[in-house]
Amino acid sequence: MACRIKKFAILFFMTFSFMVNAKYTIAIYTDQKDNKNANEYVELMQKTFPFNVYEIDYKIIGLEPKDLPCRVETDYKPGTAPSDPKTKVSESSVKCDQVALIKKTQEMHADQAMVIKTDTEFAGSGGDIAMITTATPVSALLHEFLHVLGFCDDYEYKAKDADIFCKDDGSVQNGVNAVIITPKDNYKGDSDARRLHWSAITWNKLIENRTPITNSNGSKLGTGDINKDLAPANNTNSFTILDDPIGLYKGKVCNNASKPIVVWHPGGKVSIMDNHTAGLGVAYEKLVMKILDSKGVKRKSNAPEKEDDDEVILVQPNKPAGKNQSYYGESNPPASDSSTKTYDQRNPFKVLGDLLKDAIYGNGSQSK
Ligand SMILES: [Zn+2]
Repeated sequence: MACRIKKFAILFFMTFSFMVNAKYTIAIYTDQKDNKNANEYVELMQKTFPFNVYEIDYKIIGLEPKDLPCRVETDYKPGTAPSDPKTKVSESSVKCDQVALIKKTQEMHADQAMVIKTDTEFAGSGGDIAMITTATPVSALLHEFLHVLGFCDDYEYKAKDADIFCKDDGSVQNGVNAVIITPKDNYKGDSDARRLHWSAITWNKLIENRTPITNSNGSKLGTGDINKDLAPANNTNSFTILDDPIGLYKGKVCNNASKPIVVWHPGGKVSIMDNHTAGLGVAYEKLVMKILDSKGVKRKSNAPEKEDDDEVILVQPNKPAGKNQSYYGESNPPASDSSTKTYDQRNPFKVLGDLLKDAIYGNGSQSK
């Protein structure tokens, strides 16, 4: 839930990353006997744009259940439905010993750990490691991986979760694909709204001049509301066509918070961060490419040509440390709550983008 919270790591790991990893390698740990879901996930990634135009290696690591340090936790009361197949919302989450898995991943010179745990519950979690159960469609693992990359949920949280994750200090529900902006009742046109809010929109470089961020003759904020159409799966080698223009679309994630918070997203269609049967949409495709580029992941020769603004590295708003997001209404706490040091250092693999950002924008003691 909410968005990925990153902590900074030390320079050593950047060197490590450059020296050892020619390619970006994803290690998928599973205790499923035939690795069926892991293979399905690799197939999904290898055909889904933009991941299919990057040099990414996948290593499936089959383990005995006792050797996979993960478990499924359920929050629901006995006798109630564990999950809602319509909304795909579950009360269960996958919890792993993240420190152990990241260490193992580091030892095999891989960059990103994922887990597919054998279990009958529909559940997943994001954070530093993307995790799902075997009862969960593998597209949900892509949703979790997008959390790892810094994306926030788009789906409407239940009230209890909304009150935890929707804070009006803007600290949690801001991410590469979401910003909290409290709209004024009335604007004096689009330029007025741009003047007031442009700098808050982290993806503003992707919004064309001709795309308004207001409606109703420039009086109301928003290119529009996110509509009911699902972003289609995109198995081509280029951006989704016939999508809504990238702009500022009113989301619903925090609608049920006791103090209403308005969260805005760049795309007009329902995305995989809302419904895992949906695709990414052009806005999220562009954002993913910027993030992968910033991590130094190599584009394949069939990738779209770099755009002028590709050198611009997205600035994520500052977020509090120690929070973590998961999918489907659960939190995924650090592997060892009592060991802050371990937690702070638990994710040495995906730091390149952060370090680049830090080099340009500085970090001080802030966390992202
Ligand atoms: Zn999620």
